[in-house]
Amino acid sequence: MQEPILVLAEHLRGEIADITYEMLGVGRKLADELKVPLHSVIFGKDVAPLASHLGVADSVFVLDHPQLDMPSSEVVATLLKTLIEQKNISLVLIGGTNVSTGIGPKLSFRLNLPFVNFCRNIWVKDASVGLTSQLFGGKILSDVRLPGNRGVVSVYPGSFPPDVGKSDRKPSIEVLDLPLEETKVIFKQYLEPEAGDIDITKQDILISVGRGIANADNIAMVNELADALGGALCASRPVIDQGWLPLSRQVGKSGMTVKPKLYLSLGISGAPEHVEGMKDSGLIISINTDTNAPIFSVSHYGICADIFDVLPTLIEEIKAHKSE
Ligand SMILES: Cc1cc2nc3c(=O)[nH]c(=O)nc-3n(C[C@H](O)[C@H](O)[C@H](O)COP(=O)(O)OP(=O)(O)OC[C@H]3O[C@@H](n4cnc5c(N)ncnc54)[C@H](O)[C@@H]3O)c2cc1C
Repeated sequence: MQEPILVLAEHLRGEIADITYEMLGVGRKLADELKVPLHSVIFGKDVAPLASHLGVADSVFVLDHPQLDMPSSEVVATLLKTLIEQKNISLVLIGGTNVSTGIGPKLSFRLNLPFVNFCRNIWVKDASVGLTSQLFGGKILSDVRLPGNRGVVSVYPGSFPPDVGKSDRKPSIEVLDLPLEETKVIFKQYLEPEAGDIDITKQDILISVGRGIANADNIAMVNELADALGGALCASRPVIDQGWLPLSRQVGKSGMTVKPKLYLSLGISGAPEHVEGMKDSGLIISINTDTNAPIFSVSHYGICADIFDVLPTLIEEIKAHKSE
């Protein structure tokens, strides 16, 4: 493969998103192994200053225009197609996030290139690019190859370390002059979710309850544990669906992604949709009566026991330890 690799830089509220650094890190590795240039492109309003943060790329293309304030996937796919054809790019990395979803499939269709979604790993073997794609919410991992190393890849957030994609180096910057066409879909408004009582993504200690808690009355006991530990409560989806805790406390695919120092899970089975929101926590301790509960495979420590047997002693011991 002689053609360059392109990373679509994602940004929100004036900051480069972590997914961009994840893609730049893995893109740099690929580009070095294949001996091709790594480019990045940033589209948006007032984004020109952000281009200097993308120094891991050899060059950065910038299109800064008032019309590109939160552009729709339609607009970005159209611009990308023109750029890719102009610069003869073969492989494009796009964030698999809410912000960028929808761009990849459109682009792949228009360029007649394969699309690899939910990509969790990328490597080079015998000058050929291989990718691992996550299917069925993580139940299946599928290894695929791209014919001629050409394709559009949607990178699953959290798959690569973002720090590798950061550098103080100043990239060469090229200001683009691409036509902006009217599209049927336009961005109207960014709706922030209602502010919860606390932000669980910012907590160091989280005590997470699952269906094993059995009923709302038992939440009081877990609250006591949270107070003793100086942590906050969060939950799996069934607990939220029951209305036992507010939506702002949900961890997982349709909730928040958390990375506390300690994640203590109580009566949670460890379904892929839950695990994807907590697997990167610093220390995971789980209590579950089922030895085969999948949560144990992502836990650093596991207690196979009834939470109602363990909790009173645990609360007592923590309180005693704190008063020493
Ligand atoms: C599109 C989609 C999105 C989803 N998004 C999310 C999401 O964001 N977050 C999320 O959590 N889920 C989500 N889900 C649901 C997910 O698939 C699981 O159904 C859910 O995570 C299960 O929650 P749970 O572990 O609390 O319950 P269960 O799977 O019922 O597990 C309860 C566990 O408690 C244990 N247990 C029972 N009693 C006790 C006791 N006394 N002591 C100790 N252990 C006990 C059991 O052994 C069991 O392992 C989503 C599903 C879909 C399809």
